[in-house]
Amino acid sequence: MSQPLYVETAEVSDKPPSRQALVSDDEPPSTTAVATVATAAPKPSIQTHSRWNDWRWQMSHRIRSVEQLFGYFPDKAYCQSIEPVIGKYPMAITPYYASLIRKVDLADPVFQMCVPQLDELYDPPFLSSDPLEEHDDMPVPGLVHRYPDRALLIATTTCSMYCRHCTRKRVAGTRETSISARRLEQVTAYLTAHPEVSDVIVSGGDPLTMSDESIDMILSAIRKVPSVQIIRVGTRMPVVLPMRITDNLVNILKKYHPLWINTHFNHPNEITPESMEACRKLADAGIPLGNQSVLLRNVNDNPQVYEQLCRMLVRMRVRPYYLYQCDLVRGVEHFRTPVSKGIEIMEYLRGRVSGLAIPLFVIDAPHGGGKIPVLPNYIVSTSPTHTVIRNFEGMLISYPEPAHRDTPRMMAEPSHDTAPGVWELASGAYSRIQPARTIRQVRRQACCHHIENSELLGQ
Ligand code: SF4
Repeated sequence: MSQPLYVETAEVSDKPPSRQALVSDDEPPSTTAVATVATAAPKPSIQTHSRWNDWRWQMSHRIRSVEQLFGYFPDKAYCQSIEPVIGKYPMAITPYYASLIRKVDLADPVFQMCVPQLDELYDPPFLSSDPLEEHDDMPVPGLVHRYPDRALLIATTTCSMYCRHCTRKRVAGTRETSISARRLEQVTAYLTAHPEVSDVIVSGGDPLTMSDESIDMILSAIRKVPSVQIIRVGTRMPVVLPMRITDNLVNILKKYHPLWINTHFNHPNEITPESMEACRKLADAGIPLGNQSVLLRNVNDNPQVYEQLCRMLVRMRVRPYYLYQCDLVRGVEHFRTPVSKGIEIMEYLRGRVSGLAIPLFVIDAPHGGGKIPVLPNYIVSTSPTHTVIRNFEGMLISYPEPAHRDTPRMMAEPSHDTAPGVWELASGAYSRIQPARTIRQVRRQACCHHIENSELLGQ
């Protein structure tokens, strides 16, 4: 008989720690927002609890029911209105994450990501519960094998917080359980029989909700498969429950190098001294850290906000990896943005911040099509001899192709007599068209003296 690996299922306390009311009772009840007034959140007294920094205490004091939510956000009408939402898509909010809410208002990004909304019940027909068709790509239940060399293991259905925008809403939290020993054996047998899989992503749910012993057992079993080169762990713990990144956990993780972690920060308000400390511990253990965020309407669909997030992530040694277009999953339509919004953000970032801080904007395509990068257009035109590209300033540059003698020429002869246009760049008659005034041009003109190579190092 199979034994579940999961050791501790969080107990749900009937008595949530009291917290000062964040919203005035005078506010009219709303079905779409707890309050329309931007009430500054008071410093929660709960943070002085002696076990605040104990991740198990945080897990067992998650806000899980309407009654508990009411203890935090006393808008009775709102709390009652979302009862059917919670019935369909479970709610869990760690006290730590709840403390990041600055205003009880849908304008608050943290509030939106953790507190259910009635809008989750609005499902246009093009949405589905499993738009990526992960279920159809599972040779073993819980193991998604889509790309040739990678496989993703759903190790648990438990998360410390149930993100309202989750792409696995069909799974996450519907039943808080984890992979059994028997299923883990089936998974490792499959991986052994498929040596082309060299990269295994341990995901969920959030795998770091499991006990240290269970995590150790799962990683050890995967690491024993000779063909597995890289293990990746997908976790939102550094964001929603950073106290989970204990020294003991880090010591377990670093036994299984090369091991990477991808986390999931969406907004600068999620970056706190606690989350920075969690990332520091992981990075100091030699674990490369990446960030996969989701583009969410009214949360992070603002180029300046997203720029700030990327800059902060790089400072804490977390590489912005992917920015996902919101999936076509049931229950998240209210978070979706037009694809153009992501392209706008990419256009804004390129040239403004280091490439190290710019994630790849991708659509994880319906029908299991996989991640497809979506970029602003940087190729303006091509010819047999030249490709015309443009940079972030709007400068057009003619890039010559290799000078093979048999390269076909353009049909018309280029002339230097005409004003340069894109065709003249593609023909090679001109090498660039430059905007009249850019910041770089102004800077160049201000220091236009010629610098000899010997001067570069002050010799
Ligand atoms: S932590 Fe990940 S799996 Fe869990 S609810 Fe959030 S997005 Fe979904």
